[in-house]
Amino acid sequence: MQLLSKADEVTTLVQVAKSKNLSVGFVPTMGALHKGHISLVRRAKKENDIVIVSIFVNPTQFNDKKDLEKYPRTLDQDIQALKPTKVDIVFAPDVSEIYPDGDKKGSEIDLGGLDKMMEGAFRPGHFNGVAQVVKRLLDIVNPDRLYMGQKDFQQFTIIQHMIDTLHLPVHMVVCPIMREENGLAMSSRNVRLTSTTRSNAGIIYKTLKSAKSKLKTHTIGNINAEAMKSLSTGPFEPVYFEIVDGNTLQPIHDASKHDYIVACTAVWADGVRLIDNHILKS
Ligand code: AMP
Repeated sequence: MQLLSKADEVTTLVQVAKSKNLSVGFVPTMGALHKGHISLVRRAKKENDIVIVSIFVNPTQFNDKKDLEKYPRTLDQDIQALKPTKVDIVFAPDVSEIYPDGDKKGSEIDLGGLDKMMEGAFRPGHFNGVAQVVKRLLDIVNPDRLYMGQKDFQQFTIIQHMIDTLHLPVHMVVCPIMREENGLAMSSRNVRLTSTTRSNAGIIYKTLKSAKSKLKTHTIGNINAEAMKSLSTGPFEPVYFEIVDGNTLQPIHDASKHDYIVACTAVWADGVRLIDNHILKS
C-alpha cells in the first residue's frame, strides 16, 4: 500500500497501470473509515487490478463550518483499517492539492435540479461541492470504475447525472448500505451520538422498512405522516421523510405510477444529522 499526497504522482501511477492494461477502481471517502467504506474497497478489489482510496475532507461540501471543524480526522487509524483490504494506493491530499486555483473553480456543474430537494434544500451548495470534488478526483485518478454507497442516495444519483451529462469515461458501481446490528446505517458521524441514542437509532431503519410494508395498502401521504410521527421520539427529530422516484428524486403521490421508488430521510439526534434511505420498489 502506497500513501500519496500529490495529485501528479497518482495520475502517473494510474497511467503506468493502464499502459499495462490493468483496470483501476476508485473509492472516494472523507476518512474516519468504518465497515461501510471498507465494503466499497473490498468490492473494488474484487473487480479491479488496482484500487485507489482517497481520504479528503472536502471543505466545499460543508455549508456548516462547525460541521467541517467537527468532522473526525483519523488518518493513522484509517490506514490501519485499510491494510487488510490490500488496497494499492491511499491518496490523502491537502486542500491546496485539490484546489490549487482556489475552491471556486469547478464548482458550477449543472446538476439538473437533482440538487434542489431533500438534502439539497437544507444544505445549500452541498451537492455542488460534492460534484466539484468528485470531478476533480476523477480527473486526477481517471479510474475505470467509481465505487459509491447507496447510503448517500441523492449523492450517487447526482454523480451519475454528472457522469452522463459530461460523458465522463467511468462506470459507477453502487454498493449496499452497511448497518450496525440495530439497523442504524454506519456513518462517520455515529461516534458523536451518545450510547443510548446510538442504540435507539434503529428506529430510523425500522421506520423505513415499515414504509415499504405499507406501500401497497396506504397512501403516500399517510405513510409519510406515520413515519414523521415514529421518528419524533426521544432525542430524534426528523427533518424530512420523503418517498421519491428513484430516478428524478421528485416526491411521488401514486406508487403504482412509478417503477423505482425510494424512501429517504434525515433525522437530527444529539446535534448530529443522520441520513438513511430504503428502496421500496425497483
Ligand atoms: P464519506 O466518507 O461519508 O464521504 O463516504 C464515502 C463513501 O462511502 C460514499 O460513497 C458513501 O456513500 C459510502 N458509505 C458511507 N457510509 C456507508 C455505509 N454505511 N454503507 C455503505 N457505504 C457507505
